[in-house]
Amino acid sequence: MTRSITVLGAGVLGLWQALTLARAGHRVRLLECSVEPFAAAASLYGGVMLAPEREAETAPAMLRELGLEGVALWRALYPQLHCNGSLVVASPRDQGELERFAHRTQGHGLLRADELAEREPDLAGRFNGALFFADEAHMSAPDALQFLLDEARRAGAEIVFGVGAGADTNGDNAADVVIDCRGMAARDHLPDLRGVRGERVLIRSTDITLSRPVQFLHPRIPLYVVPWGAGLYMIGATVIESEEPGAMSVRSALELLGGAYAVHPAFAEAEILAFGAGVRPAFPDNVPRAIVRDGGRRIFVNGAYRHGFLLGPVLARTVADYLADGRTGALLRV
Ligand SMILES: Cc1cc2nc3c(=O)[nH]c(=O)nc-3n(C[C@H](O)[C@H](O)[C@H](O)COP(=O)(O)OP(=O)(O)OC[C@H]3O[C@@H](n4cnc5c(N)ncnc54)[C@H](O)[C@@H]3O)c2cc1C
Repeated sequence: MTRSITVLGAGVLGLWQALTLARAGHRVRLLECSVEPFAAAASLYGGVMLAPEREAETAPAMLRELGLEGVALWRALYPQLHCNGSLVVASPRDQGELERFAHRTQGHGLLRADELAEREPDLAGRFNGALFFADEAHMSAPDALQFLLDEARRAGAEIVFGVGAGADTNGDNAADVVIDCRGMAARDHLPDLRGVRGERVLIRSTDITLSRPVQFLHPRIPLYVVPWGAGLYMIGATVIESEEPGAMSVRSALELLGGAYAVHPAFAEAEILAFGAGVRPAFPDNVPRAIVRDGGRRIFVNGAYRHGFLLGPVLARTVADYLADGRTGALLRV
């Protein structure tokens, strides 16, 4: 049955919903309160890594399977997705950490130093070896969000910026179903939603070339360098129980930049382009979900925590299935 659907919020969750539901034949209108696309979205700060295997080190087990499905859905959609895997390294004195990480995860192979150098020539001589997660992928957040926006429009979704929930009587009030993807703003209806601050640095280096994400095992933060192409690198990311969206602290800047330097000292010559912090919406168990309310007239899709890009397509498929025939899945609560 074709429905009239309003999606609220053009972060990665709302964009995936709009695209998937428009492709399923629904009449979709996506309302975003910020005038400039992505300006108020946590999604803009994403790495972005699709890392279901590495995330499984700390995430609930069910998210690994769903994450693998998320990677497959991105692969089918996005030609610019880099599907050349990811690496985990540790300094020689922390080899025990690498072994522990290997025991707690699947889907990896152990590379010797020469095999690592074959894959990433600029890391030759830097590490004793690495874990290689061949099936993981990565992308640049701004490019991926713009692609989703264009694809949703191409699929027939109407996308309106500068219009918030409730401000538009032809929007959420008139729709058969409202899909609420307002991120942290949805706490007015989801009181157990909390914010987890994530800081990142964007740098540009012409002295070093990496072609896939490199995670550097660090005692406090999941520290990684993600190549965005053209010499751009995203260095992330802190995980701080705070909803403060403000500027990055000196401590975080030191840790992130120090981590990049530990991956390769050539990063010391890189140009710093931006410091930034986004607040990840999360439920107490850090599992994202779609929550059906008002007899199916309103569905909240939220709590993506560190997995909004990874699980955005899975949450969209889950909602589309529910609207098609009432099917529920692991991430849907009625
Ligand atoms: C530093 C960092 C690194 C990350 N790295 C990764 C990664 O590598 N892989 C991964 O999968 N995830 C990653 N994440 C997590 C991911 O970015 C989040 O899970 C995701 O951004 C959450 O998306 P969202 O659409 O729920 O929220 P948001 O992106 O915040 O979008 C919500 C949107 O709703 C809009 N809105 C608010 N109120 C209204 C209203 N009244 N009406 C209309 N619109 C409204 C907002 O303006 C905003 O645009 C990272 C996050 C951070 C901070």
